[in-house]
Amino acid sequence: MRKPFIAGNWKMYKTTAEAKAFARAFTKLYNSSDVQTAICAPYTQLETLIEAFKGTDIKIGAQNMHFAEEGAFTGEISAKMLKEIGVDYCIIGHSERRQYFGETDETVNLKLRKAFSADIIPILCVGESLEERDGGKAFDVVKNQLASGLKEITKEQASSLVIAYEPVWAIGTGRNATPEQADEMCGFIRDTIEELYDDVVSDQTIIQYGGSVKPANATDIMNMPEIDGALVGGASLIPEDFIEIVNF
Ligand code: PEP
Repeated sequence: MRKPFIAGNWKMYKTTAEAKAFARAFTKLYNSSDVQTAICAPYTQLETLIEAFKGTDIKIGAQNMHFAEEGAFTGEISAKMLKEIGVDYCIIGHSERRQYFGETDETVNLKLRKAFSADIIPILCVGESLEERDGGKAFDVVKNQLASGLKEITKEQASSLVIAYEPVWAIGTGRNATPEQADEMCGFIRDTIEELYDDVVSDQTIIQYGGSVKPANATDIMNMPEIDGALVGGASLIPEDFIEIVNF
């Protein structure tokens, strides 16, 4: 049985003071539940949040990492550094990183391999652009992203993988995919995982939808059979909104 998984993606928002204020407010609202909750925060807020949520079942994730063990990579952060401070998850291949920072399916694959070897659970983001959807290519694009991203990832590793289906046209735009569109693609992702591995792995894989998830649409999205969770950008910055999504 897959546990619902709601993760916030704070992107480049919140200072330390703001993160502490969020944690104080969110802790008051939060009751641990059957839903796994995580917040993927900027690097400088990771330890602050780990400390603030100690004793709760809220997990902390990063939003990116380098694929090398260590080295002369100015400005980068390694998986080992994240693990050392208690980070459990890392978003990998978010469309903003693919679009603005040259992330490719190859670097996504290298990062996935490194995350697994460092015992960090990757949240692998896949999704098509509007042009690709309108051109009838959405399923091919997502299938290719999965096949290249998961190259040489073993069955054992893949069974703890989280995949976030995030159509690029729905991120930060206020225009979300319909629950049916999201469910259709999440089902297709599960079928693809079964093709790449087997039905045991595909049954275990947590597949989230991401793209303008808000308190008003969270229940409809989460009630879809193939959708196990949500990756939430803007609405995860506001404790009162994020708690409503967690308590869908
Ligand atoms: C995201 O950043 O992954 C995201 C889905 O953002 P938003 O919820 O703001 O569309």
